[in-house]
Formats: sequence, structure tokens, C-alpha cells
Amino acid sequence: MVNIAADVWAHAESDADRVAIRSPRTITFGQLRRTNEQVAGAVRAAGAAPLDRVLFIAPSIPEFPEIYYGLHAAGVTVITMNTMSTEPEIGYVLDDSGASLVIAWHECADNARAAAADRGLDFWQIDAGFSFDAEPLTEPHQHAAQDTALILYTSGTTGRPKGAELTAANLVDTVTSFQPVLNIDPDDRFGTGLPLFHVYGQAVCMNTTLSTGASFSLVHPFDPKVMLDVMVADELTTLAGVPTMWNAMLHVGGDYTADDFTALRLATSGGASLPVEVIRAFKDRFGCAILEGYGLTESTGAATFNDINREQKTGTVGPALPGSTIEVRDPEGNVLGADQPGEVYIQGPTIMKGYWNRPDATAADLRDGWLKTGDIGTLDADGYLSIVDRVKDLIIRGGYNVYPREVEEVLYEHPDIVEVAVVGVPDEHYGEEIAAVTVLTEGSEATTESIRAWAKERLSAYKVPHLFAFVDALPKGATGKILKRAIDRDELRSVAAQG
Ligand code: AMP
Repeated sequence: MVNIAADVWAHAESDADRVAIRSPRTITFGQLRRTNEQVAGAVRAAGAAPLDRVLFIAPSIPEFPEIYYGLHAAGVTVITMNTMSTEPEIGYVLDDSGASLVIAWHECADNARAAAADRGLDFWQIDAGFSFDAEPLTEPHQHAAQDTALILYTSGTTGRPKGAELTAANLVDTVTSFQPVLNIDPDDRFGTGLPLFHVYGQAVCMNTTLSTGASFSLVHPFDPKVMLDVMVADELTTLAGVPTMWNAMLHVGGDYTADDFTALRLATSGGASLPVEVIRAFKDRFGCAILEGYGLTESTGAATFNDINREQKTGTVGPALPGSTIEVRDPEGNVLGADQPGEVYIQGPTIMKGYWNRPDATAADLRDGWLKTGDIGTLDADGYLSIVDRVKDLIIRGGYNVYPREVEEVLYEHPDIVEVAVVGVPDEHYGEEIAAVTVLTEGSEATTESIRAWAKERLSAYKVPHLFAFVDALPKGATGKILKRAIDRDELRSVAAQG
């Protein structure tokens, strides 16, 4: 049978008292399964049949897996969305997906309720201690491998959000790909502050942890100090996050000692490029490596990972996961050789079926089973991928290609720089000029001139940012990924020029 819920439920049969969720409250596998069975029964009683779409909106709280695996057990196609979604955004997804039922956690229920009411759809609000009195559904739905089990909306490489259709097999194959690469075993205590509505927190972290029978600790909302306290209290062995989270954790003060973190064996990072400097500082403070991987919503979060059992190459996102293949191609589609930058393509068992009701977009991004990613990367002779940048983020200054990531790596080494985003701004003379939007450490006396001089010693002249803007914080997306698109280039041009 292919159903991610069945894999999680198996631990309730073998060891019902084993802890599934450790923080912020304890739930055993037996309890999780019983709640899931109730949810599945209630969904069926409400008339939802297998493959009917159900939208579920909740943050990273224990109720998330309680509802989520219930929906999968019922066999409906689950859709999850950012808890900050507006009413029009939710309405768009409801119309596009044809969802028949909307379920939302009470703290983020208003917009979902309004969008559901507008369309005359069933709406369920979930409160703490919720229960359903329908007949429980004790046998998970038997999905065919290619059934769409999950739809996650993403902007993909272009355009309005599209629903990436992830199959029942994609979800299970993501777990099978990850588990051996990270050696996740049932004694692991996995913790994260990632949002569970996003592919990384959900399909990679939560599904891998719980279908292995390991425990999951959640921090919501993400707070670096709370994360450190949970690491200590729950004796976490494994962490997952994005670079901005590691950065924030490194800047938490207090009297933690290295002994507080002896249980920690592994931290995994993805979603955005991880500055090498952060890996070094993390190892110094927490005594463990951060392994970086790479994936997209369209690849169920999976594609490459620095395998714990193989040589790790810092600065790369590792080799293809077991069962997947990576190629780097030029714009004409020719496969490039080692170390030549080009667009990354992925093939394998975690690649989506397509975009929901979008044959044209599917044909544009999925070619003969290969996913066109919109990312620029290089493969080395051993098959390790390095992500150079997004195709869209590439800056072309006076005819030269400048990869913002390379410039950011150098700036992150500057002792006064906490966070930085390098972007292109329109320029009459060069077409684009390079700007660095920078968050400095408190009390720093660094100036545009001193940082530019620092960069000049380390980068070719044409890559050195011409404009600098100093800000208190950078705009971030749901996973903590820095949102370059949200940086206003024109405004930046005037502000930075004055500074
Ligand atoms: P999403 O669909 O929201 O998961 O976003 C996928 C995108 O995140 C990819 O296309 C990459 O641009 C970016 N991404 C994911 N992992 C990494 C990584 N380790 N390094 C650089 N970019 C990454």
C-alpha cells in the first residue's frame, strides 16, 4: 500500500507508547494514530471522497500532524498553505484546486473562513483539544502510486502560483531517499522551527522523522533562543533549518556551554545557500556539522544532499540522492561537463507529476521526466552539485555575469556583517549595477568605503558592489529564506546612492 499515513501508523502497531511529538507537548504514536483515525472518519463522514481536495492551514504545532495524517489516511488530496495567506490568496487556491473542504487552525482561520464562505464551502475550525465524534477510519486509503496525495502551490520559475502535484509515491520516496543519507533512526530526536506547510518542513523533515519512528520537536514561532532551549531540554540529535535560522542561533547570547549540546549529531540545511562561514561558526559553537542539501517543491523537497556516510564537501549541496540523477545543461539543452555552470535538471522518483490543471506549465518545466529547475549550478567531477544562483537572480553588469551568491559569500566573511543580500539594480550605463543590502552587527562602525575596500581585496573589480544600503532586517519568506524579490530595486537605488 502506498500511503504516507500507513508508514507513520505502523509505529503505533509496533510500539504505541513511543514518543512521536516531544515538544511543545508529548504525543505518542498510539495517540497520534487514534486522533488521525478520528479525523479521517470525520472527513469521510462529511462526504469527502479519496482524491477530493482539502485545504488545510496550520502552523508548526502538534495539531498539524494530527490533522495531516488523518487527511492522508482518508485518501483526500491535501493542500497546505502559508498561515499568513490573505483571503484573495486562499480564494485563488480554492478556485484553482476545486477544494471542497477547508480546515484551519483557529489563530489563522479568519481569511480561510471568509474565502470558504464566499464559495459556499465547508469550513472547519480547529481549536486546542479538538475532537471529532464520527466513526474512526482505522484502515488508511490504499492509494495507487501515481495518485495525487498532496498539492503545494509555488511560483515555480515564473508566473502565478501553480499547484505542484505530488503523488502518494513521491511522498514515500522522499522519505526513502533521505533516511539513509542522514542515517535517521528510531532513536533520533529531530527538532525544527521550519513551517510544516512548506515542502521542506513537511515532506522532508516531518514525514521522514515520523515514518522512521523517531520523535519530532517543534518550535513555533521560530525563536532562536527557544530553539536552543528545546535542543537542551529534548536532547535533540538532529536539527533542520534554513541559513537565516542558523545565523540567528549563532547570535543568541547566554550561558550555554558545549556540554549542553552533546546529543546533537547533525544539522541539515536547505532552502537557500548556506554561507561557508556559518558552517564553521556553527561547528565551533554546537560541535556538529551542518550538512547542506537542495530541493524544490517540484521535487518533493529532495534532489541532493551531503551524505553523512560519504565525503562531505562544504559549499556544495552534495550529490544526487539515491535514485535521482542531476544534469547541468546549457540554454540549448546540451549536457555540460564538470564545473561548467548551467541550468540544473533533476530526474527521479521524487519529481512531481505535473502542475495541477496546467498542461502548458507542466510541458515547460517537465521534459521527458526531467525537471527544469531555474537554478544555475555546477557539477564537479565526483557529481557534487554547487548552486550558483537562481537564473532570475543573475546580475549582468556591463556584459559580465555576476552571481550574487559569490559576492554574498565574501561579504559574510566580514566580521561586522550579520546578513546580506546582493541584488542587481537598473543602471543606465552598465545595464545593471550591483547593490548589497546589509544588516550590520550592533554598534558596528563599518562604512560603505570600508566594506567596499574589503570586498575589493577578495573579488574581481566588476563583482564588487557599487551601492550599499544598511537595513535593520531583510525581507524573509515562510521558511526564513531571504526574499530578494521583495527588495525594491528603484528605492534601493536612491537610498543607497545617498548613503
Ligand atoms: P521551494 O520550492 O520553495 O522549496 O524553493 C526551491 C528553491 O530554493 C530552489 O529552486 C533554489 O533556488 C532554492 N534552494 C533550495 N535549496 C537550496 C540550497 N541549498 N542552496 C541554494 N538554493 C537553494
